[in-house]
Amino acid sequence: MRVSENIHKAINKQINAEMWSANLYLSMAMHFTHEGYDGFANWLTKQSAEETEHAMEMAEYLNSRGARVEICAIDAVPTSFDSAESVFEQVLKHECEVSEMIDKIVHLADAEKDLATRDFFMGFVKEQVEEEDSASKALDLVRKVGEKNLFFADAHFARRKE
Ligand code: MG
Repeated sequence: MRVSENIHKAINKQINAEMWSANLYLSMAMHFTHEGYDGFANWLTKQSAEETEHAMEMAEYLNSRGARVEICAIDAVPTSFDSAESVFEQVLKHECEVSEMIDKIVHLADAEKDLATRDFFMGFVKEQVEEEDSASKALDLVRKVGEKNLFFADAHFARRKE
């Protein structure tokens, strides 16, 4: 069964959103690199790579359903940031927004009676629970150490492997 036009459009839009997320986190990583916090930069670079992976998984899914993926222009991401706390607040807020987008696709799949798409995106519903949790923990740590002691948290963020 091919996907409906609505599902096709929604997934294509989500692929673009995942690529935007990848750029957002890369932009944040570059901010921390410039500020001399390689650990934070590492965490955000890995986060960015994960978003690119999500985009690719979704693209492969659309391909496997016989629908053509359209790679569109990606909107500009912020390039200047304030405190580390505000950056991680943005990360958490963004992940919560992504969760809502993913939920909407599941609801759309329900409406379109598309069980395969529903099943595929339920994997991302689970993924978003992890994403929100790790963003929330990161924000918590940054708040605990405080802006003057970020160096102590940097080593922790440097340990993220993937
Ligand atoms: Mg994602």
